[in-house]
Amino acid sequence: MRTDSGYRARDPDLTVVRGEGARHRGVHPARLARLAQGVGEAFVELLAVLAPVECVCCGSEDTALCGACARRLRLLCTRPFRAEGQAPALLTVDGAVILPVVAGGHYRDELAQALLSFKHLGQGRLASVLAPALGKAIRAAVGDGVGICLVPVPSSNAAYRRRGFSPVHLLLGRLWRIDALPGLHMTDALKKAPGRGNGQKGLGRGERARRVRGSMTVRLFRKGSLEGRACVIVDDVLTTGATLAEAARAVSAAGGVVCGAVVLAATRPPAGSEPPVGGPDTPPTPTQTKNKLRKDELPVAMN
Ligand SMILES: [Zn+2]
Repeated sequence: MRTDSGYRARDPDLTVVRGEGARHRGVHPARLARLAQGVGEAFVELLAVLAPVECVCCGSEDTALCGACARRLRLLCTRPFRAEGQAPALLTVDGAVILPVVAGGHYRDELAQALLSFKHLGQGRLASVLAPALGKAIRAAVGDGVGICLVPVPSSNAAYRRRGFSPVHLLLGRLWRIDALPGLHMTDALKKAPGRGNGQKGLGRGERARRVRGSMTVRLFRKGSLEGRACVIVDDVLTTGATLAEAARAVSAAGGVVCGAVVLAATRPPAGSEPPVGGPDTPPTPTQTKNKLRKDELPVAMN
Protein backbone atom coordinates (compact mmCIF):
# COMPACT_ATOMS: atom_id res chain seq x y z
CA MET A 1 0.00 0.00 0.00
CA ARG A 2 1.29 3.44 -0.87
CA THR A 3 1.45 5.46 2.30
CA ASP A 4 1.25 9.21 2.38
CA SER A 5 4.79 9.42 3.73
CA GLY A 6 6.06 7.25 0.87
CA TYR A 7 4.36 9.48 -1.63
CA ARG A 8 5.86 12.54 0.00
CA ALA A 9 9.35 11.04 -0.02
CA ARG A 10 9.19 10.69 -3.80
CA ASP A 11 7.53 14.01 -4.44
CA PRO A 12 10.17 16.39 -5.84
CA ASP A 13 7.81 19.26 -5.15
CA LEU A 14 8.35 18.49 -1.51
CA THR A 15 11.94 17.35 -1.48
CA VAL A 16 13.92 20.00 -3.37
CA VAL A 17 14.96 22.18 -0.49
CA ARG A 18 18.04 23.93 0.91
CA GLY A 19 16.34 27.24 0.69
CA GLU A 20 17.85 28.87 3.74
CA GLY A 21 21.34 29.41 2.43
CA ALA A 22 24.76 28.47 3.67
CA ARG A 23 23.88 28.21 7.35
CA HIS A 24 21.81 25.14 6.51
CA ARG A 25 24.49 23.55 4.39
CA GLY A 26 25.03 19.98 5.49
CA VAL A 27 22.00 19.94 7.75
CA HIS A 28 20.48 16.49 7.98
CA PRO A 29 17.08 17.19 6.33
CA ALA A 30 18.76 18.91 3.39
CA ARG A 31 21.00 15.87 2.86
CA LEU A 32 18.03 13.55 3.05
CA ALA A 33 16.17 15.69 0.55
CA ARG A 34 19.08 15.59 -1.85
CA LEU A 35 19.41 11.85 -1.42
CA ALA A 36 15.71 11.40 -2.15
CA GLN A 37 16.03 13.57 -5.25
CA GLY A 38 19.09 11.60 -6.34
CA VAL A 39 17.34 8.27 -5.84
CA GLY A 40 14.35 9.49 -7.87
CA GLU A 41 16.59 10.59 -10.70
CA ALA A 42 18.60 7.36 -10.58
CA PHE A 43 15.35 5.41 -10.89
CA VAL A 44 14.39 7.44 -13.95
CA GLU A 45 17.83 6.78 -15.46
CA LEU A 46 17.47 3.08 -14.69
CA LEU A 47 14.18 3.02 -16.60
CA ALA A 48 15.96 4.62 -19.55
CA VAL A 49 18.61 1.89 -19.42
CA LEU A 50 16.03 -0.89 -19.36
CA ALA A 51 13.94 0.54 -22.18
CA PRO A 52 15.26 0.66 -25.75
CA VAL A 53 16.66 4.14 -26.29
CA GLU A 54 17.06 6.29 -29.33
CA CYS A 55 17.82 9.97 -29.79
CA VAL A 56 14.60 11.91 -29.16
CA CYS A 57 15.56 14.38 -31.88
CA CYS A 58 16.98 12.38 -34.80
CA GLY A 59 16.15 8.78 -33.87
CA SER A 60 19.72 7.47 -33.93
CA GLU A 61 20.06 4.52 -31.58
CA ASP A 62 21.61 3.88 -28.17
CA THR A 63 21.31 7.27 -26.54
CA ALA A 64 18.41 9.49 -25.55
CA LEU A 65 20.15 12.47 -27.11
CA CYS A 66 23.00 11.93 -29.57
CA GLY A 67 26.11 14.09 -29.55
CA ALA A 68 25.18 16.04 -32.66
CA CYS A 69 21.69 16.89 -31.37
CA ALA A 70 23.08 17.77 -27.93
CA ARG A 71 25.48 20.14 -29.65
CA ARG A 72 22.66 21.78 -31.62
CA LEU A 73 20.60 22.08 -28.44
CA ARG A 74 23.48 23.85 -26.69
CA LEU A 75 23.79 26.23 -29.65
CA LEU A 76 20.09 27.06 -29.33
CA CYS A 77 20.79 28.11 -25.74
CA THR A 78 24.03 30.07 -26.16
CA ARG A 79 22.33 33.43 -25.84
CA PRO A 80 19.66 33.78 -23.16
CA PHE A 81 17.30 36.61 -24.05
CA ARG A 82 14.48 38.71 -22.64
CA ALA A 83 11.23 37.02 -23.56
CA GLU A 84 8.39 38.80 -21.77
CA GLY A 85 7.60 40.80 -24.92
CA GLN A 86 6.03 37.71 -26.49
CA ALA A 87 3.99 36.77 -23.41
CA PRO A 88 0.75 38.79 -23.34
CA ALA A 89 -0.01 37.99 -19.69
CA LEU A 90 3.24 39.68 -18.66
CA LEU A 91 2.49 43.01 -20.34
CA THR A 92 -0.05 45.69 -19.55
CA VAL A 93 -2.42 46.81 -22.29
CA ASP A 94 0.00 49.70 -22.86
CA GLY A 95 2.85 47.25 -23.40
CA ALA A 96 4.58 47.98 -20.08
CA VAL A 97 6.41 45.00 -18.58
CA ILE A 98 4.69 43.43 -15.59
CA LEU A 99 7.28 40.71 -15.08
CA PRO A 100 10.63 40.55 -16.91
CA VAL A 101 11.59 37.06 -18.08
CA VAL A 102 14.89 35.66 -19.32
CA ALA A 103 14.65 32.57 -21.55
CA GLY A 104 17.46 30.12 -22.25
CA GLY A 105 16.36 29.60 -25.84
CA HIS A 106 13.43 29.60 -28.22
CA TYR A 107 11.10 26.63 -27.91
CA ARG A 108 11.93 24.98 -31.22
CA ASP A 109 13.94 22.25 -32.94
CA GLU A 110 16.18 20.18 -30.66
CA LEU A 111 15.36 22.27 -27.58
CA ALA A 112 11.62 21.74 -28.01
CA GLN A 113 11.99 18.03 -28.82
CA ALA A 114 14.37 17.34 -25.95
CA LEU A 115 12.31 19.33 -23.45
CA LEU A 116 9.07 17.67 -24.52
CA SER A 117 10.62 14.20 -24.21
CA PHE A 118 12.20 15.12 -20.91
CA LYS A 119 8.85 16.25 -19.53
CA HIS A 120 7.30 12.94 -20.48
CA LEU A 121 10.15 10.55 -19.76
CA GLY A 122 12.62 12.45 -17.61
CA GLN A 123 15.75 10.78 -19.02
CA GLY A 124 18.93 11.68 -17.18
CA ARG A 125 20.79 12.14 -20.45
CA LEU A 126 18.33 14.88 -21.44
CA ALA A 127 18.54 16.47 -17.99
CA SER A 128 22.33 16.56 -18.25
CA VAL A 129 22.05 18.82 -21.31
CA LEU A 130 18.93 20.79 -20.35
CA ALA A 131 19.98 21.62 -16.78
CA PRO A 132 23.13 23.55 -17.80
CA ALA A 133 21.05 25.50 -20.34
CA LEU A 134 18.66 26.50 -17.56
CA GLY A 135 21.61 27.34 -15.31
CA LYS A 136 23.06 29.58 -18.01
CA ALA A 137 19.75 31.44 -18.34
CA ILE A 138 19.54 31.89 -14.56
CA ARG A 139 23.09 33.21 -14.45
CA ALA A 140 22.37 35.57 -17.36
CA ALA A 141 19.31 36.86 -15.50
CA VAL A 142 20.84 37.47 -12.09
CA GLY A 143 24.39 38.33 -13.16
CA ASP A 144 26.67 38.41 -10.15
CA GLY A 145 23.72 38.80 -7.81
CA VAL A 146 23.94 36.82 -4.60
CA GLY A 147 21.34 35.90 -2.06
CA ILE A 148 18.59 35.82 -4.67
CA CYS A 149 16.00 33.18 -4.03
CA LEU A 150 14.99 30.91 -6.91
CA VAL A 151 11.38 29.78 -6.63
CA PRO A 152 10.34 26.95 -8.99
CA VAL A 153 6.82 26.88 -10.40
CA PRO A 154 4.97 23.77 -9.18
CA SER A 155 3.69 21.23 -11.69
CA SER A 156 -0.04 20.93 -11.91
CA ASN A 157 -1.27 18.11 -9.70
CA ALA A 158 -2.52 16.24 -12.75
CA ALA A 159 0.83 16.57 -14.53
CA TYR A 160 2.68 15.45 -11.44
CA ARG A 161 0.48 12.38 -11.06
CA ARG A 162 0.98 11.53 -14.74
CA ARG A 163 4.75 11.94 -14.79
CA GLY A 164 5.75 11.16 -11.23
CA PHE A 165 8.17 14.07 -11.19
CA SER A 166 8.30 17.82 -11.73
CA PRO A 167 10.60 18.70 -14.68
CA VAL A 168 11.68 22.11 -13.41
CA HIS A 169 12.40 20.73 -9.93
CA LEU A 170 14.44 17.91 -11.42
CA LEU A 171 16.54 20.35 -13.47
CA LEU A 172 17.05 22.76 -10.57
CA GLY A 173 17.87 19.86 -8.25
CA ARG A 174 20.52 18.70 -10.68
CA LEU A 175 22.08 22.18 -10.83
CA TRP A 176 21.97 22.28 -7.07
CA ARG A 177 23.74 19.00 -6.57
CA ILE A 178 26.65 20.03 -8.77
CA ASP A 179 26.76 23.42 -7.05
CA ALA A 180 26.25 25.20 -10.38
CA LEU A 181 24.51 28.22 -8.86
CA PRO A 182 26.79 29.45 -6.09
CA GLY A 183 25.51 32.43 -4.13
CA LEU A 184 21.87 31.74 -4.95
CA HIS A 185 19.24 30.12 -2.78
CA MET A 186 16.37 27.94 -3.76
CA THR A 187 13.08 27.76 -1.94
CA ASP A 188 10.43 25.28 -3.00
CA ALA A 189 7.83 27.64 -1.62
CA LEU A 190 4.97 27.35 -4.10
CA LYS A 191 2.30 24.73 -4.32
CA LYS A 192 -0.89 24.40 -6.28
CA ALA A 193 -3.88 25.64 -4.35
CA PRO A 194 -6.18 22.71 -3.61
CA GLY A 195 -9.30 22.23 -5.64
CA ARG A 196 -8.29 24.33 -8.61
CA GLY A 197 -8.43 23.23 -12.24
CA ASN A 198 -4.91 22.99 -13.60
CA GLY A 199 -5.11 22.19 -17.29
CA GLN A 200 -4.43 25.06 -19.67
CA LYS A 201 -3.89 23.20 -22.91
CA GLY A 202 -5.88 24.57 -25.81
CA LEU A 203 -7.20 27.53 -23.86
CA GLY A 204 -7.04 31.10 -25.13
CA ARG A 205 -5.24 33.89 -23.32
CA GLY A 206 -8.23 35.19 -21.37
CA GLU A 207 -9.43 31.74 -20.34
CA ARG A 208 -5.91 30.72 -19.31
CA ALA A 209 -5.53 33.82 -17.14
CA ARG A 210 -8.90 33.20 -15.49
CA ARG A 211 -8.12 29.52 -14.93
CA VAL A 212 -4.70 30.23 -13.45
CA ARG A 213 -5.58 33.16 -11.18
CA GLY A 214 -5.46 32.12 -7.53
CA SER A 215 -4.21 28.62 -8.46
CA MET A 216 -0.95 28.87 -6.50
CA THR A 217 -0.12 29.57 -2.92
CA VAL A 218 2.96 29.63 -0.73
CA ARG A 219 3.42 26.61 1.53
CA LEU A 220 2.49 27.50 5.07
CA PHE A 221 5.87 26.59 6.55
CA ARG A 222 7.66 28.68 3.88
CA LYS A 223 5.62 31.84 4.33
CA GLY A 224 8.09 33.68 6.56
CA SER A 225 11.07 32.63 4.45
CA LEU A 226 10.11 34.85 1.49
CA GLU A 227 9.47 38.02 3.47
CA GLY A 228 11.47 40.87 1.93
CA ARG A 229 13.67 38.52 -0.11
CA ALA A 230 14.60 39.10 -3.75
CA CYS A 231 12.98 36.23 -5.66
CA VAL A 232 13.21 34.93 -9.21
CA ILE A 233 10.53 32.54 -10.44
CA VAL A 234 11.79 29.55 -12.47
CA ASP A 235 9.76 27.50 -14.98
CA ASP A 236 10.46 25.31 -17.98
CA VAL A 237 8.41 26.85 -20.79
CA LEU A 238 6.97 30.33 -21.32
CA THR A 239 3.79 30.56 -23.39
CA THR A 240 1.29 33.28 -22.49
CA GLY A 241 3.01 34.03 -19.18
CA ALA A 242 -0.16 33.43 -17.16
CA THR A 243 1.53 30.77 -15.02
CA LEU A 244 4.55 32.96 -14.24
CA ALA A 245 2.28 35.90 -13.43
CA GLU A 246 0.33 33.75 -11.01
CA ALA A 247 3.52 32.42 -9.38
CA ALA A 248 4.78 36.01 -9.00
CA ARG A 249 1.45 37.04 -7.49
CA ALA A 250 1.62 34.25 -4.91
CA VAL A 251 5.24 35.01 -3.98
CA SER A 252 4.49 38.75 -3.73
CA ALA A 253 1.47 38.03 -1.56
CA ALA A 254 3.80 36.21 0.85
CA GLY A 255 6.09 39.24 1.05
CA GLY A 256 8.69 38.13 -1.52
CA VAL A 257 10.17 40.80 -3.80
CA VAL A 258 9.81 39.30 -7.28
CA CYS A 259 12.60 40.60 -9.54
CA GLY A 260 11.60 38.55 -12.55
CA ALA A 261 11.51 35.04 -13.94
CA VAL A 262 13.66 32.59 -15.85
CA VAL A 263 12.47 29.87 -18.22
CA LEU A 264 14.41 27.26 -20.13
CA ALA A 265 12.51 27.94 -23.36
CA ALA A 266 10.10 30.56 -24.68
CA THR A 267 7.53 29.70 -27.32
CA ARG A 268 7.96 31.50 -30.59
CA PRO A 269 6.59 34.97 -31.17
CA PRO A 270 4.32 35.52 -34.20
CA ALA A 271 5.94 34.60 -37.52
CA GLY A 272 8.34 37.20 -38.89
CA SER A 273 9.14 38.94 -35.61
CA GLU A 274 11.52 36.36 -34.22
CA PRO A 275 15.03 37.61 -33.62
CA PRO A 276 17.98 35.33 -34.47
CA VAL A 277 19.14 33.02 -31.72
CA GLY A 278 22.59 31.82 -30.90
CA GLY A 279 24.08 29.61 -33.57
CA PRO A 280 27.29 29.20 -35.54
CA ASP A 281 26.70 32.55 -37.27
CA THR A 282 25.62 34.46 -34.20
CA PRO A 283 28.33 34.25 -31.55
CA PRO A 284 27.39 35.14 -27.98
CA THR A 285 27.60 38.81 -27.15
CA PRO A 286 30.54 39.63 -24.87
CA THR A 287 28.24 41.11 -22.24
CA GLN A 288 24.83 39.91 -21.21
CA THR A 289 24.02 42.99 -19.16
CA LYS A 290 20.96 43.78 -21.23
CA ASN A 291 19.58 40.34 -20.42
CA LYS A 292 19.84 40.78 -16.69
CA LEU A 293 16.88 41.37 -14.48
CA ARG A 294 17.18 44.66 -12.66
CA LYS A 295 15.78 45.24 -9.23
CA ASP A 296 14.07 48.38 -10.45
CA GLU A 297 12.05 46.20 -12.82
CA LEU A 298 9.81 45.16 -10.02
CA PRO A 299 6.43 43.93 -11.10
CA VAL A 300 3.57 46.36 -10.99
CA ALA A 301 -0.13 45.74 -11.31
CA MET A 302 0.26 42.22 -9.94
CA ASN A 303 -3.03 41.65 -8.26
ZN1 LIG B 1 20.19 12.98 -32.48
